[in-house]
Amino acid sequence: MSLKSKFIYNLIIKAVNKMAKTTNHKPNKILVIAAHPDDEILGAGGTILKHVHDGNEVHVCIVTKSYSPEWSDEYRSTKIEEAKKINKLMRIAKRHYLGLPTQKLNTIASGEFNQKIRQVIETVEPDIVYTHFKHDINKDHTAVFEGVMTATRPIIDHIEVRCFETMSSTEWNYQPCNMFTPNLFVDIGKFIEKKLEAFAVYKSEVKEYPHPRSVEGVRNWAKKRGNEICKEYAEAFMIMRRFE
Ligand SMILES: [Zn+2]
Repeated sequence: MSLKSKFIYNLIIKAVNKMAKTTNHKPNKILVIAAHPDDEILGAGGTILKHVHDGNEVHVCIVTKSYSPEWSDEYRSTKIEEAKKINKLMRIAKRHYLGLPTQKLNTIASGEFNQKIRQVIETVEPDIVYTHFKHDINKDHTAVFEGVMTATRPIIDHIEVRCFETMSSTEWNYQPCNMFTPNLFVDIGKFIEKKLEAFAVYKSEVKEYPHPRSVEGVRNWAKKRGNEICKEYAEAFMIMRRFE
């Protein structure tokens, strides 16, 4: 098949899939793109569980990887084992790794970085992508947001993008004009306990209460977001792009 024929064939397949999904009124492929392992649980753990419960296929992409000598071999192998446990616990379809250096994403050329994000999007072909909020205090998060927004430009595919909050990064934003302002709330009352169970698997990331990234701190944040919509627990998002 020539390149041109392949391009047209792909467009037809995408259009047919889109029609099928529109008929079902239900997105069925979800991709969570997070800078570091544990961000996906903090930001969207309950919503991931809800998507899986609703029959959706959820993929997680972790953009960075720790390296020596800053992180020990033991730490790095523990992270892989923890991720395997979480995949099983949350029934995540597949976890993708981009393997880029933690705390150094802003040193990578933007073209190269965007291309790596684009590759995982083309592999998964998601209906919805969840990712970081642009103005988090953690600069890896900002880089991931920028990469996702570029890689999901509405050219061939039209993918909804939602930003999540990451406790101890989003609320520590130091720019008062750029605070996280949610326009989507997901009731996670049925899923809060499993979200906390999954978070606790990332032992080295769990802090002592009253740190916002303690198990109790994460519960409190979900309760605060829930109370904003008169529910027990919720996760909050900002929709960046949606298509109808
Ligand atoms: Zn992070």
